[in-house]
Amino acid sequence: MARYHGPVCRQCRRAGEKLFLKGERCYTPKCAIERRNFPPGQTASGRRRKLSERGVQLREKQKVRQTYGVLERQFRRYFAEATRRPGMTGLQLLEQLELRLDSVVYRLGLADSRKQARQIVNHGHIEVNGRKTDIPSMVLKPGMVVAVRPNSRTKEYFKIQAEKLPEKSIPAWLSLDAATLTGRVLSKPSRAEMPQNLNEQAVVEYYSR
Ligand code: SF4
Repeated sequence: MARYHGPVCRQCRRAGEKLFLKGERCYTPKCAIERRNFPPGQTASGRRRKLSERGVQLREKQKVRQTYGVLERQFRRYFAEATRRPGMTGLQLLEQLELRLDSVVYRLGLADSRKQARQIVNHGHIEVNGRKTDIPSMVLKPGMVVAVRPNSRTKEYFKIQAEKLPEKSIPAWLSLDAATLTGRVLSKPSRAEMPQNLNEQAVVEYYSR
């Protein structure tokens, strides 16, 4: 499946804020936002250009898309689906993104970033409702069970992740059995449980023109 292969820290520098795309590095002084918080292609002394209303909407749309690691065409599909669903379009959009399998694996604490979670799924380490699944874009529903496959649990990577689990907080809409690395989607996430730096209304306005 197509995905972005460029330098991800550039995306944060363009957004002017941390999007937490690289896992543990994002919390260290090595983070590019800590060291060079100015847009790519500019110098530290250069001032950020004042964006037009349309420019702000575009940047907010890019932020949501990059946070969840989705390319434009697929993002448009999520948006189209969100407009068909009852309720607020922006919320429906975020809900689908948050319920993607790679995002749920990340939220369960089984990966340090959504990108890493996507790789784990791609490599066949995850099963959904007891069946091996290697589709990171699969959108889950409440009641579904996500687990690390029994053969994969003994791998060094998952042993390390299991040790780190006590330091991680799992949102209330998910549950995790740390012993078996098995999680469950208890409900849909509320807006308060989704990233607060995202402005879904600006995304709706961007596509509504
Ligand atoms: Fe963004 Fe993380 Fe890179 Fe910092 S380290 S710029 S938060 S991806």
